[in-house]
Amino acid sequence: MGDIELSRERVEAEILDPRRGFERVRLPVEIRRDPLTGRTTRLLPPGSLPPPAPVDLAALSERSRPGCPFCPERIEEVTPRLPPELSPEGRIRCGEAVLFPNLLPYSKWSSVSVYSPRRHAIALRDLDAPALADNLLVQVAFMAAVAAHDPSSAWCSINANQAPPSGSSIFHPHLQGSANPWPTTAQRLYASVEPARYRAYLECERLGERRLGSTGTIDWIAAFAPGGQAEVIALHRPGLPLARLAETASELAEGIARVLGLYAELGFGSFNLAIYGPPPGSAELPPVIRLVARSTIGPLERSDVMWSELLHGETVVDLAPETVAELGRERF
Ligand SMILES: [Zn+2]
Repeated sequence: MGDIELSRERVEAEILDPRRGFERVRLPVEIRRDPLTGRTTRLLPPGSLPPPAPVDLAALSERSRPGCPFCPERIEEVTPRLPPELSPEGRIRCGEAVLFPNLLPYSKWSSVSVYSPRRHAIALRDLDAPALADNLLVQVAFMAAVAAHDPSSAWCSINANQAPPSGSSIFHPHLQGSANPWPTTAQRLYASVEPARYRAYLECERLGERRLGSTGTIDWIAAFAPGGQAEVIALHRPGLPLARLAETASELAEGIARVLGLYAELGFGSFNLAIYGPPPGSAELPPVIRLVARSTIGPLERSDVMWSELLHGETVVDLAPETVAELGRERF
């Protein structure tokens, strides 16, 4: 199980191209298999897809601010409180970050944490490591409180949707935590990977063309078969449950901030993040960190998720992981 095969197949589509007087042309597409999960991705030639439409942060901010439940005027009154067995104060705070339960029960234990009530809009390039670290720390404290009170809810993750293309329903930037007795599909997939395979994957990519760099104990890699635009994957120390991530929250925050800076440089204004905790009771599997850029594209501002991603589980991108790594490496 330890051997890593970076599997890619190339095929060519043939058309009579109206852009070249109906000359016969061949269009290459590469199908790549993710070395950890086996999921496949289609890589189109660069420039096949329209560039990401810019996110008009100022307009969205202005439109969404009145009535925003996470702004200072409302957050204390309209956000829920944790039950006292989890937190006597009802909310968890660190620096300016504030955590409270999610009104929508995505999991048995579902939390939301804002970077700061006063930061209603944050551009990707302005999401700084200290603010990220404080927000990760309130999520870590939430995971620790759940672990102490309800150890059966041991499938944990910390996630983010930021700005509308990512699926975010509230504009005010925040993270979301989840602790549940059962895994999500992705958690199940990552849990089924042999520990040796994670080690071999890291070894294989450590010096390669997809490596962005290291922040100390965490390696950051442009995913070989991206599950979204410009996916970056990072592997943490094996066996470290999210409830104990406080030890390395600053390092994790630093890496995330650097990736978000790269996304901003690439023209993206929106992203998704997932930090999957290791499976319950596992001392050998690592937490997996994944970031993808999100956008609407083209004159119709279509979603970047279409039939292929949603119904076939097959992401289509035109930005090669090797290019992502080349552009992002100087930040690490
Ligand atoms: Zn707000």
